[in-house]
Amino acid sequence: MKLSQSFFKTLREVPNEAEIPSHILLLRAGMIRKTAAGLYSYMPMGFRTIKKIENIVREEMDAKGSQEIRTSVLQPSELWEESGRWNAYGPEMWRIKDRNGRDFCLGPTAEEIFTEMIRNDITSYRQLPISLYQISNKFRDEARPRFGMMRSRDFIMKDNYSFDKDEEGLDKSYMDMYDAYTNVFTRCGLTFRPVEADTGAIGGSNSHEFTALCEYGESEIAYCTSCDMAATVEKADCVDAKAEEVEMLPLEKVHTPGTKTIEEVSSFLGITEDRTIKALLFVTYDDEGKEKEYVACFIRGDRELNMTKLVNALDIPEHSIEFADEEKLNEKIGAVAGFTGPMGLHDCKIVVDSELPGLKNLCAGACEEDHHVLNVNYERDYKADILVDLKTLKEGDPCPVCGAPIKHARGVEVGQVFKLGTKYSVPMGATYKDENQKDHPIVMGCYGIGISRTFQAIIDMPENHDENGIIWPFSVAPYHVILVEMKPGDEEQDKVSEELYNELTKKGVEVLWDDRKERPGVKFKDADLIGIPIQITIGRGAADGVVEYKLRRESEKVEYKVEDAIAKAVEIVNLEKDGRHFFK
Ligand code: ATP
Ligand code: MG
Repeated sequence: MKLSQSFFKTLREVPNEAEIPSHILLLRAGMIRKTAAGLYSYMPMGFRTIKKIENIVREEMDAKGSQEIRTSVLQPSELWEESGRWNAYGPEMWRIKDRNGRDFCLGPTAEEIFTEMIRNDITSYRQLPISLYQISNKFRDEARPRFGMMRSRDFIMKDNYSFDKDEEGLDKSYMDMYDAYTNVFTRCGLTFRPVEADTGAIGGSNSHEFTALCEYGESEIAYCTSCDMAATVEKADCVDAKAEEVEMLPLEKVHTPGTKTIEEVSSFLGITEDRTIKALLFVTYDDEGKEKEYVACFIRGDRELNMTKLVNALDIPEHSIEFADEEKLNEKIGAVAGFTGPMGLHDCKIVVDSELPGLKNLCAGACEEDHHVLNVNYERDYKADILVDLKTLKEGDPCPVCGAPIKHARGVEVGQVFKLGTKYSVPMGATYKDENQKDHPIVMGCYGIGISRTFQAIIDMPENHDENGIIWPFSVAPYHVILVEMKPGDEEQDKVSEELYNELTKKGVEVLWDDRKERPGVKFKDADLIGIPIQITIGRGAADGVVEYKLRRESEKVEYKVEDAIAKAVEIVNLEKDGRHFFK
């Protein structure tokens, strides 16, 4: 492709809305353009990379025997009613009506459509297992679309669904996808880690997220410094503090004026924060958006509440719970802002962290202005409706598996695999008959890769960008080679450029030829910005058949005879182009 003829424009300025390197560089390099918040178009060069990522994904899915299809993006509400997710999915789902007033959504994911397809066509155990996938746009009306393709409202996702006879079959399908994902992200040049994950709105029993490690990621993972425990912070189990074998002391109400926070009360009383009980109040909503109930959570004062664990304990969707305005809850449940404790509440659900029963003689709010109570003990003084681990695993906490200290890291969730079991097949009636004509629900798994998010995450890897621009790995680079012709129109340079272009193209190398009548400085800047892995400069040396050869990743420029430059480029491209060299 000649750059002079392509639809291509780079930006010198950093666009206002872009905050992280990958987003800034994609916009500056002219790979994507914004249409509206969370909506982007892929420009020709960016789209070439998207197609390469998609093809890596296709190769790895096909290698596991999964078959590609494409469903409609529009999905009828009836299917989602069947699975129970029409309401449960919440405000992220784009809901629309057709001209007759019938409800549809723009698919945020596609478990229902695939389950419906299977239930119509699969009847016998002989037809299982089956695995199907598609690569298509998904739509989610994200509350905070940001960081470009990282969290957009229309994005490209690969989603697979596996259908098995039993759990054993599912285990194999799950492991196949786990392996395939490892291959995909390796071939894309990501540094990543699979971690245990919560199942969220998709549901099911087991799940892993594939997290590309980089400081700009929105996901936080917790991992052990000694064993291989690694999980999202949302999911990670916590170890309860050791139960205390001490005598329970009598309750004592104390005057603690103005001490509304844990920090204030503990410093006022001269105790450490881990001797206090922290109260957090919530209100939940039903499917129609009406207030359903109040929830009071209690955890040790120095701990942080884990919202995912709370939502799971209450068995409600994430969007149906909010912090309650404590000021307004005095009459309704007996709370007193800043002084709420587990004793004296009424008309609310009490959720208590699992370690509190083991801890003795703690300090809690007295549900009375400017007062706390000392020596509060579980069972004797208060009880839980739900007793469960509500804690967030923090850095330095003991590992739930081996006890060694935990570390945190940031990353981007580029893919997730789920064991769904029969979560969809039972309500939607997707069954098969066994050898004895007995019906069983089909056992399912589902597996997603954010193609557009991966596209951007690749750039955020520290090794894939520098202050001058993107440094694409060969496997996903829009082109392998950029020819930077210093003086288009110069007979010698034109001849050499054309020879390079034709010979390399013939040998399967993808070449971009910068034949624009621009200053050399502009061309070099653009070449660095768009990050094509091999740069060949055709300048004065062309008269002697000599060109300059440089890898984008390295600073060293080498002079080569034209045929040597071709041989060099072909060799490295053949080695690197499918990303399999990363397996070494
Ligand atoms: P997140 O927690 O980041 O919102 P999710 O867990 O809801 O994502 P999944 O339902 O697991 O996402 O979707 C599969 C994959 O699709 C994710 O691993 C991610 O790579 C991608 N993805 C999800 N939401 C978005 C989005 N808004 N923009 C771009 N990619 C997305
Ligand atoms: Mg996910």
